[in-house]
Amino acid sequence: KLRDDDSHYFDSYAENDIHEIMLKDTVRTVSYGRYILSNPRIFRGAVVLDVGCGTGILSMFAARAGAKKVYAVEASGLATKTRENIKRNGLDGIIEVIQGKVEDVELPEKVDVIVSEWMGYMLLYESMLDSVLHARDRYLKPSGIMAPSQTRLVIAGITADRIWRERVDFWSNVYGFDMKPMDTPCYADGLVESVPAQEVITTESILRDIDTHTATPKSLDFTTSFSITSSASSGSSTTIRAFLTWFDTFFSTSREPVSPTEQVEITPIPEEAFTDAVQEPCQGEAARPVGFTTGPRGRETHWRQVAFLLRQPITLQQGEKIQGRFSCHKSAHNSRELDVEVHYAVIGAEVKSDKEITYTVQT
Ligand code: SAH
Repeated sequence: KLRDDDSHYFDSYAENDIHEIMLKDTVRTVSYGRYILSNPRIFRGAVVLDVGCGTGILSMFAARAGAKKVYAVEASGLATKTRENIKRNGLDGIIEVIQGKVEDVELPEKVDVIVSEWMGYMLLYESMLDSVLHARDRYLKPSGIMAPSQTRLVIAGITADRIWRERVDFWSNVYGFDMKPMDTPCYADGLVESVPAQEVITTESILRDIDTHTATPKSLDFTTSFSITSSASSGSSTTIRAFLTWFDTFFSTSREPVSPTEQVEITPIPEEAFTDAVQEPCQGEAARPVGFTTGPRGRETHWRQVAFLLRQPITLQQGEKIQGRFSCHKSAHNSRELDVEVHYAVIGAEVKSDKEITYTVQT
């Protein structure tokens, strides 16, 4: 029997809409497809586990890439349709759909590769990575590959001009009426929004760098420090109204982590070429890493970004920075939700401000 937090969660994935949104997110789906189809050394002849297979798309990419056997595990009721999808494509000899939570199913063998699209808003919303790590510990061969191999949660300061206009200032004049009390949720919740790149006005800081080959569920409940510096030009200042978080995803060709400075090509192919890129497995043996960003500088994804609005805007002069502490914990009332806390202080060129402001947000 499913726990309470689970039944609502899996019901939401039994519907078509969410899967349609994910499949139409070409940055997401094509990145997985390109990785799977351009790494025959990893996938040809491999035994693959797809954790949370949904419609079966990643399993079918793996079969197209020459996998010998794919275990496609899906907890939601969608699994019935998934089985049909797979049959219609003549892949039921290779892909075995197993309905159940990956924590509860029994696989008859260990696997060479685990593929999973577990990322949620702000990377960790939904807490599905816990399930993937559980499956890794149970079923991945010691030499096995995790796809994705690495993800990074990033923070920066933004002007938040659009969010401010549309979600806060909006309430100050609604058909001529002042409805200011309506803006409070904007300060309590993480806001899922697509932010234009030019609104990013600080450097970026990595909050969490998760190597899926070695990460533990415990490390996903964390507090970490960050430092971001104003990118205002000389003599000018910038006003930060929100912190913005997003994540980058990497698919490596080995178990070696990607170094923080290493750039894996991000949304590298034009939209028109997207579907072509995943029609056929790549010939030849060259190993190819793939990566994509959900940040404001990349093409828009269904994850957008998550903004945390500040009650008091921060004005930074050129070179000034914000030093802070970011914590992210599973919410006590629903383990699929996150409680986020940001503590921060403004560090001026000479004087360290002694004020530190705290607030709590729920995604
Ligand atoms: N792989 C698909 C779907 C990704 S969405 C695609 O890329 O399009 C994540 C899916 O994982 C959902 O369908 C959800 O029901 C399933 N899921 C989440 N946690 C799971 C678990 N512990 N066991 C099995 N399935 C799970």
